[in-house]
Amino acid sequence: SNTSIVRTRFAPSPTGYLHLGGARTALFSWAYARHHQGVFVLRIEDTDLERSTPEAVQAILDGMAWLDMRPDEGPFYQMQRMDRYREVIAKMLAEGTAYYCYSSPEEIEAMREKARAAGLKPRYDGTWRPEPGKTLPPVPAGRKPVVRFKNPLDGATSWNDMIKGPISFDNSELDDLIIARPDGTPTYNFCVVVDDWDMRITHVLRGDDHVNNTPRQINILRALGADLPQYGHVPMILGPDGEKLSKRHGAVNLLEYDKQGYLPEAMINYLARLGWSHGNDELFTREQLVEWFDTRNLTKSPAQWDPKKLNWVNAHY
Ligand code: GLU
Repeated sequence: SNTSIVRTRFAPSPTGYLHLGGARTALFSWAYARHHQGVFVLRIEDTDLERSTPEAVQAILDGMAWLDMRPDEGPFYQMQRMDRYREVIAKMLAEGTAYYCYSSPEEIEAMREKARAAGLKPRYDGTWRPEPGKTLPPVPAGRKPVVRFKNPLDGATSWNDMIKGPISFDNSELDDLIIARPDGTPTYNFCVVVDDWDMRITHVLRGDDHVNNTPRQINILRALGADLPQYGHVPMILGPDGEKLSKRHGAVNLLEYDKQGYLPEAMINYLARLGWSHGNDELFTREQLVEWFDTRNLTKSPAQWDPKKLNWVNAHY
C-alpha cells in the first residue's frame, strides 16, 4: 500500500477565462487533497505562447480565490521550467530512451500516406529509431532534428482509472511521441510528465479529454524510472440539451457567477454535485465536502448542468 502523502494538482492552460468544467476539476483535486490531509499544487501550463495570456492566469487565480481553493504549492509556471525540461531530454538521449529523428515533414507525410494506403493507422515508421545492430541513415546536412520518445513496441499500457475503471491501450497504437521540436522546445505531454514527476504528484484528476494522453505519459514516466501517479478522468459537463456545455447554455465563465452575486459556497456545493454525490445530501458545508469527498462516489457518466438547480442551491445559503 502507498503510505506516502497525497499530492494532487490543478494544471490549467491559461488560454481564456476559467470555465465551469475547469473549476470543477480543480475542486475535485482540491477536495481530494484536503480529504487526505495532502498537498494541492497549482501549475499553470503556459507553453502555448500564442494562446496564453496574463489575463487568463489572473482569471484562474481570481476564480480559485473566489472559491477559496488555495494551493499549498505554486503557482508554478511551465515557461519558467524550460531548463529543467531540456535537462530531462538530454538525460533521456544519453540513456537511449529518446532519440534524434531527422525525418523531414515531407518524409513523415510520405510515411503516413504509405501506412494509410496499406490500411494501417498513419504513423512514424521508425527510420531513426535506434535498435541493437541497426545502422542508422547518414544525418542530412543542416537539418534540425526533433527528439522522439522510444515507446515500447509491444504489449499494452494499462491503468486502473480512479473513475472509469480499467483502461488499456496497445503500445503499437502510440507511436514514438515527439518530445522536443526542432528548435529544442519541449512538447506538451512531455512537460506534463516532467512536472508530475518533479512535483511528486500521486493522484492526477483531470478531464477525460486527456485519456489518450495518459498511456503516453505513463510510458515516459516508466522510462524515467518514476513512480506512477494514479489517474482519474472526470467526465465532461453537458448542457441541459445533452450537448457539451458551452456559451450557448449561458455563462460558462466561473467569475461571471461572482459578478452576478452567486455565493461561493453555493457554487462549490453545486460544482461538487456535478458528477459526485454523498447519499441524498444536497446541501453541505465546505468542511462536510472535505470530510466526505471520495472518488468512489464520482460518476462515470457525464454530468448535466442545470441552472435551476444552481439557483435553488444558491437560495438555500
Ligand atoms: N493543461 C491541461 C488543460 O487545461 C490539463 C492537463 C492535465 O491536467 O494534465 O486541459
